[in-house]
This record gives sequence, C-alpha cells and structure tokens, in this order.
Amino acid sequence: MAKDGSAPDARAKKILFDTFWSSKGWIDQGARHLSEADREYAKRHGMMFDPLTIGHDALAAETRRLVESIELAKASAAFLASLTSRRLDLRSGLASYVLASAAGPHDYVGNAFGTCVTCGARREHRDEDLDVLNFERHKWGGVRHGDPLYMLLDLSELARAEPAPPTDDDRATLEKILEIVASSPPRDTPGKLSKRLADALPSSKPERDVLIEILAAAGVLAPSDPSLGSGEFVHAGAWRGADGYSQTAVARLFGPRA
Ligand SMILES: [Zn+2]
Repeated sequence: MAKDGSAPDARAKKILFDTFWSSKGWIDQGARHLSEADREYAKRHGMMFDPLTIGHDALAAETRRLVESIELAKASAAFLASLTSRRLDLRSGLASYVLASAAGPHDYVGNAFGTCVTCGARREHRDEDLDVLNFERHKWGGVRHGDPLYMLLDLSELARAEPAPPTDDDRATLEKILEIVASSPPRDTPGKLSKRLADALPSSKPERDVLIEILAAAGVLAPSDPSLGSGEFVHAGAWRGADGYSQTAVARLFGPRA
C-alpha cells in the first residue's frame, strides 16, 4: 500500500500510458489497442473517463465551482509535493487554478474561430477524449494549460487528490528553482532556463519545459514584454532572464519563506 493515499493505481496508470505512448513516442490513433476490460479497470481507478459532451455554459460554471471549492493552499501544496516525488499529475493543477481563477462568470461570445472570446471554449464540446489529457497530466504535468477542457479535468482531479504534505526537501527544491531563475543571464530564454533547471530536480527536458510553463501560468515567471515569443512555450514564451521571478506571486502562492 502506497503511503500517499492519492497515489494512482499502478496497473491503471500503466493501462493509460500504454494506450498513448511506447518507447518510440506517441502511438498513432489507429494503432491504439485497449481492451474493454482494461478500459473498465482504468475507469474504476479514476485514470480513464467516458468521453465528455458539455456546452460552454456548463463547462464555465463547473470550472468556476471547482475553483471556488478548492483552497489555493491545496493547489500550492500539490505543486510542492510534486517536486521531489516526481508526481507530475500533482504539479499541473496550480496552473489551472490560477488561470481559471482569473476568468470570472461570463456568457458565451464567439469569435471568428467559433470559440469563446473570454475562455476559449467552444459553444458545444462533443465526445471529447479526456484520457489523452489525463495521460499528458501524468506524463509531463499537462501540456494544454489554459485549454478549458484541460482545466476542467485538471481541477476535477486536483479536487479529488490527497497530496502528501510538502516536505522540507520539496521547499528546498522550490528555493533552488527560484535561485536558478534569479541567476539567469538577462537574455536567457525559457529554453535556456529549462537546461539550467536540470540541476534542481530529477526531470526530463519535457518535464522541465512544462514546469516552466506552469510557473509562468501561475504568475511566478512574469514576462515584462509580453510581445516576445520563444519556441513552443505558450505561457513562458516572453520570459527572459532579466525578468527573474515575481516575489509577490511566490509569497501569494507559497507563503512566507524561511
Ligand atoms: Zn467562455
């Protein structure tokens, strides 16, 4: 029995991973094999889900309800607890929490792409695959932070999670990450930062890239010139070394520091 009550069932997690990923990377949709028995097992253990059909207003209302029902302290604690445990799924929710908190109640107003100008959701979502989103959460800490369906899943799972309290090692790892951020040469891009963060925590490059995106989505990495971009980074693309990190955001999210 795992000491962390929220640790995912190992077999269910393997079923989820084996559906989407092999040693060669992504498995093409047509080449995916999943038996009904395995699907049912993964669903029973909360790792896979039925396809979701939901309209914009219900999606926005449910996201709102989740944000209001979760304490910021829980989102922060889950993030911290992910740093040394490498539970990437626990890392993701902080980004969704902060991003979703910023969007208030609103009606659907569509743009030219047929998505809501406020939150980016479509008016109707039909048979959406939540399994791939959950795979991305567990594999990298999420990929689509800010995507309304991803945020709904991420916050639902954060609400369910029972992360172990952050340890001194978790807090020390956060401090190390922040030290590395603060010591960045002024023109460093998020990609450079990702390389340097290899010293702070056990991680793959994609995991560190996502960690940087989460820190940016949560306001810790706050670009001073939002017009800049960098590679495939969405939230962190405009961050440069000179921006360092926001002490205000760190204090708000993680409380007083030693
Ligand atoms: Zn909207």
